[in-house]
Amino acid sequence: MTIKVYDWLAHHARRTPEKLAQHDLFSGRRFTYAEMNLRAGRLAAWLRGEGGLAQGGRAAVLSHNTTDMFDLQFACAKAGTVFVPLNWRLAVAELEFIIKDCTPEILFYSSEFSEEAQTLGKNCGLSRLVELDPQGRPDSTFEQLIAGQPEPLPHAELVHDDLLTIMFTSGTTGHPKGAMITHGMSFWNAVNLGGPAHVTTDTCHLAVLPLFHTGGLNCYANVAFHAGGTVLVMRTFDPGQALDMLLDRQGGITHFFGVPSHYQFMSLQPAFEKADFSHLTICGVGGAPCPVSVIELYGQHGVSIQQGYGMTETSPTVLVLDAADGIKRAGSTGLPALHTEVRLVDEQGRDVTRPGEIGEIWVKGPNVTPGYWNRPDANRESITDGWLHTGDAARFDEDGFYYVVDRWKDMFISGGENVYPAEVENVLSRLPQVAEAAVIGVPDEKWGEVGMAVLVLKEGAEIGEAEVLQHCGANLARYKVPKSVRLVPALPRNATGKILKRVLRDDVTAEAGAAAAS
Ligand code: ATP
Ligand code: MG
Repeated sequence: MTIKVYDWLAHHARRTPEKLAQHDLFSGRRFTYAEMNLRAGRLAAWLRGEGGLAQGGRAAVLSHNTTDMFDLQFACAKAGTVFVPLNWRLAVAELEFIIKDCTPEILFYSSEFSEEAQTLGKNCGLSRLVELDPQGRPDSTFEQLIAGQPEPLPHAELVHDDLLTIMFTSGTTGHPKGAMITHGMSFWNAVNLGGPAHVTTDTCHLAVLPLFHTGGLNCYANVAFHAGGTVLVMRTFDPGQALDMLLDRQGGITHFFGVPSHYQFMSLQPAFEKADFSHLTICGVGGAPCPVSVIELYGQHGVSIQQGYGMTETSPTVLVLDAADGIKRAGSTGLPALHTEVRLVDEQGRDVTRPGEIGEIWVKGPNVTPGYWNRPDANRESITDGWLHTGDAARFDEDGFYYVVDRWKDMFISGGENVYPAEVENVLSRLPQVAEAAVIGVPDEKWGEVGMAVLVLKEGAEIGEAEVLQHCGANLARYKVPKSVRLVPALPRNATGKILKRVLRDDVTAEAGAAAAS
């Protein structure tokens, strides 16, 4: 079987050459399928020619979102080289670690990251640095480089197991790991997710997640390119702009995908009060536990948010709920996606067979990574006979619908009972004063660990600890009720918008250490 991602562009360039493929909202640039296909082909010619990349060579990119990222992804595919998008929120030392790990021959960087790129070039012995111009001016280095290649490259001979991308995980639990993503994996995600997300040639998707993240690339952008739809690229997520665009019925947007915080931040905008999303085909959420209150709130505004679960390593879709069930089964991430096998495995290594019991999600399927780049240790630990151990805990109900309860690593044990913070966060999010909530386990002499609620309040809102704890007490078993509450101006988040629990835990440990020392 030979599935090549570059076929998508070539195919739509033949069938619908004039169709808008992508629109860069920052620079205003718009590219039809014919234009995008030609552009990617010329870039591919440069990569294999002057760029000096051999088949299997790697090209890294450090940039805010831009249509150039998709051009580069497809150019790499056409050239048989590997696209390595980098997380711009990482410190230079962290990026250095990644670059030394995957040894790209070229680094494309957006002009605002010029300083970082020079340092990385020097420290990693990377001599080929190419600047991207966010405005896409014709006289910029990148545009000149494309214009200087009159002939697009004939497509490289590939098989579906060839690498398309090395995509680093979000680094929520530790150092990011480079998941190897093949052409075949991306294709299967387009098939597995495209159906339930109703992605067709008529899809117009607003892409706001960072394109170095699997959600940004694959939910639903690459799925839309596979189908011959249109992708609008927002440079970085702006809740006001995103909300306005989603509410503009003339704008033609049909699809949106966000992490829960995107929905929370949009709901705090003044325009949200009268918002009606009923014209949109699919609004998807994933990447982190989504409070049921968010699903219900958007339900009141005409949209049944499609909940799903996935990860970088699975390209990403694993579980998905039909949008029609979004409100009825709020909190569930649905059923296994097409061509995806899912098991729950308990701590003794046995398969969970009864509804309600909790186990670790294991996944197998053609969308699952063959492994992490240069990480035989991680591969041994996390893959058994093709089954990927996700590190996430879940249960299923009587009807077989899955509920992701939390990451195993975020679970804590209080008085011998397992507490899954996401469940407590769900209850806290129901308080009208609360904008965002996170719960962590902190050491306790009597119970081993107890919960601490860390809250961000809505502007001008006030609430006392007693009221928070009383609300939890009325809605949760006693051992799940946090023992303390802390109000903070903002939660630490990574570039994808996920809460960094390890940073919260480190802060509390550091404070406890300082208090003990004084
Ligand atoms: P790292 O692996 O580097 O620690 P990460 O796991 O956050 O970072 P991603 O691959 O971006 O990196 O995220 C996948 C993870 O996101 C899943 O393993 C799971 O913990 C979480 N996740 C995704 N979807 C959901 C969901 N619907 N509900 C709860 N958690 C989710
Ligand atoms: Mg992970």
